[in-house]
Amino acid sequence: MTLPIYQNFIHGRYLANTTGEHFEVKNPATDEVIYRVEIADESIQLAAIESAKLGFDLWSSMSAIERSRILLKAVAILRERNDELATIEVLDTGKPWQEAQCVDVETGADVIEYFAGLAPTQVGQQQTVGADFYYTRKEPLGICAGIGAWNYPLQIACWKSGPALAAGNALIFKPSELTPLGALKLAEVFCEAGVPAGVFNVVQGAAEVGQWLSHHPEIAKLSFTGEVGTGKKVVASSAGSLKSVTMELGGKSPLLVFEDADIDQAVSAAMLGNFYTQGEICTNCTRVYLHRNIYTEFTQKLLHRIQNNIVAGDPLDPKVNFGALISREHQQLVLSYIDSGIEQGASLLCGGKAMRPASAANGYFVEPTVFVDCQDDMRIVREEIFGPVMSILVFDDERDVVQRANDTHLGLAAGIFTKDIQRAHRVIHKMQAGICWINSYGNSPAEMPVGGYKQSGIGRENGIETLEHYTQTKSIYVGMTNIESPF
Ligand code: NAD
Repeated sequence: MTLPIYQNFIHGRYLANTTGEHFEVKNPATDEVIYRVEIADESIQLAAIESAKLGFDLWSSMSAIERSRILLKAVAILRERNDELATIEVLDTGKPWQEAQCVDVETGADVIEYFAGLAPTQVGQQQTVGADFYYTRKEPLGICAGIGAWNYPLQIACWKSGPALAAGNALIFKPSELTPLGALKLAEVFCEAGVPAGVFNVVQGAAEVGQWLSHHPEIAKLSFTGEVGTGKKVVASSAGSLKSVTMELGGKSPLLVFEDADIDQAVSAAMLGNFYTQGEICTNCTRVYLHRNIYTEFTQKLLHRIQNNIVAGDPLDPKVNFGALISREHQQLVLSYIDSGIEQGASLLCGGKAMRPASAANGYFVEPTVFVDCQDDMRIVREEIFGPVMSILVFDDERDVVQRANDTHLGLAAGIFTKDIQRAHRVIHKMQAGICWINSYGNSPAEMPVGGYKQSGIGRENGIETLEHYTQTKSIYVGMTNIESPF
């Protein structure tokens, strides 16, 4: 059987490259190649820029309300196609259909809808200065670029295109080479909704194509989602053209569970924050700090729920709630972290091995894994693993646990469970993290700005302030009197 081959999406259509170079994409749950994708060679790169210039001219000259109307049509199409798009996400990522069907497309559509609504609310200022006055305009930046990670491919493409397009920019988006199809489908949806050709182009490839975007002098802004190490390289190469950057990077986030917490709720949060999307979520609370007095109750309840409620298997089966990791290499990396945990003296409460569920025996599964007897300096406690591996640590004192939770170069998220309202706010205000939850974990509505402190990121996605990152202010001084000049 010949496999489908997808081309790059440039100027409202699929466009063949000239070199014929392509790469293969595997289904992580079956280890089978499911399609091929053409790489954005030089001909595609040139076409993408020329097309984006044309797209930007047209799109930025439309009124904000016209843009908003078109984007809302795209939102409606995304929701109509929810199941088709969710299936693509399941086949590309290995995540359970149960999740993709109600989260991935939905949360992507929500963000485009949110920014479509905000687009016409952008206003400038006017101020009188003596007899003269000035006014300001919020103008789009021009051509922007987005580079995505593989864990939420369509959602990431929506989270970047929503604010970029609402503000009147064109966006060239490069999805991860492991999950390239969702962004192409989003491009089709935008076209069908009436977004002009060139406003949203999709280029395919790995690091070299990403480097081309970050170097390109005609790209005004780059929004990146990925690892901290890659983010640093992207910032360095973006500096050559002084691009503005948004960096959505990794984390090693703490969850603090105090002795007065609702333990069942805290266990739910810890499970969501470690095993949802089989642990491949940037905000995951992989360091769970338990007050000593609730350690036994918490760990017993946690173990019971892992043993009884996790259903691993073919991610397309609606009963499955625990999928395959993205690749064989990533599975091996996660297993090597587990080995290092054992070597450094942590004990396994459960899990620790690769899994071969009967309905997906060739998939890249790792058991839901919980370590106890962890120390703050172990690699499993300090480094992002990006898999289903939870480290449990014990504390006695509030000040001490706050200091330990903050003792990391990362600062993406943090959570706390307590019924003491004053402690909840006192502690969360001290957390060095950009996304915090009290008696909750993981919710990220379109209205709420998200992003990292420290090395977890630069800038924010979602929320009103993100629109600011996709516009620039032009000040216009208007002389109403004769110019006074010594010349
Ligand atoms: P990655 O850094 O390996 O790759 C991300 C993207 O960058 C891919 O599209 C890749 O092709 C591209 N890329 C690789 N090298 C590049 C280079 N030198 N220049 C430009 N582009 C380059 O990350 P990943 O493995 O795809 O994703 C997992 C990581 O993403 C985790 O660290 C996770 O925490 C993070 N993440 C963060 C958020 C967030 O919102 N903060 C969300 C999802 C994932």
